[in-house]
Amino acid sequence: GEKPLIVSFGEMLIDFVPTESGVSLAEAPGFLKAPGGAPANVAIAVTRLGGRSAFVGKLGDDEFGHMLAGILKKNGVDDSGINFDTGARTALAFVTLKSDGDREFMFYRNPSADMLLRPDELNLDLIRSAKVFHYGSISLIVEPCRSAHLKAMEVAKEAGALLSYDPNLREPLWPSKEEAKTQIMSIWDKAEIIKVSDVELEFLTGSNKIDDETALSLWHPNLKLLLVTLGEKGCLYYAKNFRGSVDPFHVNAVDTTGAGDSFVGALLNKIAEDQSILDNEERLRKVLRFANACGAITTTKKGAIPALPSESEVLSFLEG
Ligand code: ADP
Repeated sequence: GEKPLIVSFGEMLIDFVPTESGVSLAEAPGFLKAPGGAPANVAIAVTRLGGRSAFVGKLGDDEFGHMLAGILKKNGVDDSGINFDTGARTALAFVTLKSDGDREFMFYRNPSADMLLRPDELNLDLIRSAKVFHYGSISLIVEPCRSAHLKAMEVAKEAGALLSYDPNLREPLWPSKEEAKTQIMSIWDKAEIIKVSDVELEFLTGSNKIDDETALSLWHPNLKLLLVTLGEKGCLYYAKNFRGSVDPFHVNAVDTTGAGDSFVGALLNKIAEDQSILDNEERLRKVLRFANACGAITTTKKGAIPALPSESEVLSFLEG
């Protein structure tokens, strides 16, 4: 039969990445255009691994918008949920790679086309056919995109999809920390799968201790799986009846962009095929080992989308 569909909802944009790291945006001698946006990265992570995905969102009816739509199509992502806005431009992000390897973002969102997706523009049939419906938090920031986001979640849920949430915090997009936290938490108890990074864990809980108590303070009764990704330290998992950690792989990381999305795409691809993974610790650990490998491989190449691995690449990495 046909493979289960993973629908990924939200922003897609172009990251302008300085060709030299450790310099400020103003000092950057040049920029590389890197297609990005966490939900779009996840959609492509799924198809690279041989799964089936669709992207739902809005792009500008401009050169960048059509370039991005072309990248999704070329990667086998269903594009029937993409809208184009004739009035606003495709979102842009300027990314500073600081000398410690961390990233800082500056955005063009004035508003950008992605924020203008309206509830009445949603391809509801597509959303209803999702086995897993995945989203972030950036599309919660302003209307009308917020209403579109909430409606898409509701429609997916009603049709029986598993909801998956990666807040993918980009602090400078919100007017204040408080507002960011309030909005991220406003849809917290709807998701059955949630993935946060160590940075988001601290941001949302106010605690800089990465331990079970802190992570479990984010638990809610509808949750089936909570994941905390720890970069080069691997990940933590919390399910109803078990919890633990999965060790990382040691690699030569050159650019961590997209590691989390690669991890999420791998995980969702396996869960869409067999939800019983969520109740079986041994099998979940195997899947998380695979997802850690995907994240690790993604850090060994520049950019997010170009660095997302194929299934055969992951299998030979795991054997090697
Ligand atoms: P995010 O991109 O959301 O911050 P992480 O950076 O934690 O997410 O990456 C997700 C996963 O990718 C991690 O759990 C880990 O398995 C893998 N990973 C990320 N960075 C590295 C690294 N430097 N070395 C090895 N594995 C990594």
